Amino acid sequence: MKNTEKKYQLNDFIRQKIRTDLKENKNNGKVHTRFPPEPNGYLHIGHALSIWLNFGLAEEFNGKCNLRFDDTNPEKEEVEYVDSIKEDIKWLGYNWEDRLYYASDYFEQLYSYAVELIKKGKAYVDSLTADEIKKYRGTPTEPGKESPHRNRTVEENLNLFEKMRAGEFKDGEHILRAKIDMSSPNMNLRDPAIYRIKKATHHRTGDKWCIYPMYDFAHGQSDALEGITHSICTLEFENHRPLYDWLLDNLSVPCHPQQIEFARLNLSYTVMSKRKLLTLVQNKTVSGWDDPRMPTLSGFRRRGYTSEAIKNFVEKAGFAKRENVSDISLLEHCLREDLNYKALRVMAVLNPVKIIIENYPENKTEELDAINNPEDETMGKRKISFSREIFIEKEDFMEEPPKKFFRLSPGNEVRLRYAYIIKCVSVEKDKNTGDVKVINCVYDPETKSGMPQSSRKVKGTIHWINANDCVDAEVRLYDRLFTIEHPDKDKEKDFTEFLNPDSLIVLNNCKVEPSLKDSNPLDKLQFERRGYFCIDSKDSNKDKLVFNRTIPLRDSWAKISKQ
Ligand code: ATP
Ligand code: MG
Repeated sequence: MKNTEKKYQLNDFIRQKIRTDLKENKNNGKVHTRFPPEPNGYLHIGHALSIWLNFGLAEEFNGKCNLRFDDTNPEKEEVEYVDSIKEDIKWLGYNWEDRLYYASDYFEQLYSYAVELIKKGKAYVDSLTADEIKKYRGTPTEPGKESPHRNRTVEENLNLFEKMRAGEFKDGEHILRAKIDMSSPNMNLRDPAIYRIKKATHHRTGDKWCIYPMYDFAHGQSDALEGITHSICTLEFENHRPLYDWLLDNLSVPCHPQQIEFARLNLSYTVMSKRKLLTLVQNKTVSGWDDPRMPTLSGFRRRGYTSEAIKNFVEKAGFAKRENVSDISLLEHCLREDLNYKALRVMAVLNPVKIIIENYPENKTEELDAINNPEDETMGKRKISFSREIFIEKEDFMEEPPKKFFRLSPGNEVRLRYAYIIKCVSVEKDKNTGDVKVINCVYDPETKSGMPQSSRKVKGTIHWINANDCVDAEVRLYDRLFTIEHPDKDKEKDFTEFLNPDSLIVLNNCKVEPSLKDSNPLDKLQFERRGYFCIDSKDSNKDKLVFNRTIPLRDSWAKISKQ
């Protein structure tokens, strides 16, 4: 089913609101949304929900969606983040066309809006210190106190604000505040700061400005300047909505967008706060924002997740009006479902042990047919080579097997996938360690896969790889980054206490099919019986192949919790 076909069936509270607005011909029947990331980190899977929602609603209701960087905080923002955000949105399959905006594009206009408020007697320059302002603010149960500077004249305010812009004051010396109501039960309306002095270089405007608008002042006005109809944001802004509306009502803006809030997406076994993710990067707990264990979109991509799986997941997880946590196994389910159809089946041996087939001719190599994807015939077949020496997984052989072990053991037969039935006749061991070095087998030439006489059945089938032409590779196995479901729930403890020490296991001596040398990082692979894999986009090269395990074939955590 195509995405658009599916979406029409969705009927959440945001869609209901939009449908009502359309019915009433509000905004002239138009829908215009925006995705407004702050370029202070990489996007994570929570952002994917917001992207899916904003771009998806625009698609669904024949509207438009802008990408707008909310870049009002120069100290934390960087071009690297801007670039990564654009790449991630494109990867998810959305297109802002020619509608790429930056709040910083509006700095001049926002400054004029601030002047307009001052002129209307609705904003003033305050000269209290940050601590004093905090004290004067009161508490949720006690009203605040008016600043002694609240009644400065319009001229005085205009003059001071101009000097703030001209760089005549130090950071924090003055601040521009909206004049609303110091006793409002909503703290956000107690004369909120709207412009602050910050002598910082901005990644786009350089040193042109030394005063910057606060998020609340920039956001609604930017929405209005872009003709946004539905300004969808997360729940923490619910209490800011009266301020959002107050500003738009008191300024000569082109329109008044409707702010709608929804609950953030949270995911079990990980953290979603950009600050915490940055901590992991800075502490080198992970290799970077795109470490395949990170819940960032670049991390998921590098690990081999598909954008379709992520979009399917956010749609299934949905959103509510109250906070909740989505189960990571739902995401993994969506991923397996997608990869099952897309992944090219190949063979790879992660913990190799050699087999010598004693009765197979020494210089012979055979080409065997292997199916590329049993779920999709159009993916066709490929040739794999077979010879006297092959590798199998160490764990597929046991010298003294328990009763129900149907793989290889002395005197026992097993089928080699796409090849023959072999039987173990003897083993050679390392004298010092006792480890099995070579397993000697014989094969039954009558049992070639696909041949009529191959109908003889054995209980087990194992994968293998031809020792003559296989390629060495490093394989990285990932597990959940945290050992508990809600690593940041316990406020007494630091979330890093719950890091999973086994979240990355590196295997150095793996053997893969030679065709994988030409694999592309976005190619989806299934190593038969071992899981889904992809080539690592950063560390893999011609001299050293590196694969990431995207996900095992089955949910091992589910099994553990059922035991
Ligand atoms: P910050 O604390 O830095 O503001 P943020 O996670 O809110 O972090 P933004 O860059 O402001 O990051 O987010 C861009 C958009 O994505 C916003 O509209 C925000 O509401 C939305 N968003 C952020 N996190 C989530 C989440 N977990 N689930 C859904 N939407 C989210
Ligand atoms: Mg935010």
